[in-house]
Amino acid sequence: MMGRNHRTSGILTGFGVGVAVGLSWPVLIPFTVITAVAALLPDLDSYNSIAVKCLGPLGHPVCTGLRRLSQLLGGNAHRGLTHTVAAWLVVSALATLLVGVTSSFWWVALAVSLGYLTHLAGDIGTIRGLPLLWPYRGWRDIKMPLRFKAGGSFENYVIRSLMIMGVCVLFLVHIGLVAWGLTYV
Ligand SMILES: [Zn+2]
Repeated sequence: MMGRNHRTSGILTGFGVGVAVGLSWPVLIPFTVITAVAALLPDLDSYNSIAVKCLGPLGHPVCTGLRRLSQLLGGNAHRGLTHTVAAWLVVSALATLLVGVTSSFWWVALAVSLGYLTHLAGDIGTIRGLPLLWPYRGWRDIKMPLRFKAGGSFENYVIRSLMIMGVCVLFLVHIGLVAWGLTYV
């Protein structure tokens, strides 16, 4: 998936889960933003990614480091180590440790974990698939029965349109729930 579509999928997931668990607006907005940013993290192994560009001068060395580490372990430079369930677990654990389990900011760790997972869910549907289960089944790419071309028309028009519509529907539903007094403001 392309960066902007990962970002949109992060917004959709963050907003959807935030609404579902009843987060109030002051938390719902940063929760959604953090999920969207975290949805870009796995592509820190791609020089052209939004995540690498956002890191400025640090982006190139971080990207090179992750690519080398992945290759050292026998995986691909891009869509290698950072695109595995193991990496998701490590990132989620680190976010939880940094924030603190009992902290009132627990939702930050949830947003990071959710965003990262959203990225993997987006990429797994592409033709190339992902080595999700490393090291359990080596670097074998896991592929879905129905796949789409990364950056192709289906992703950019159909999936993107559905995701944007989803965000709009969720927004309207949430506004409606607030208006009826059924959820927090
Ligand atoms: Zn990716």
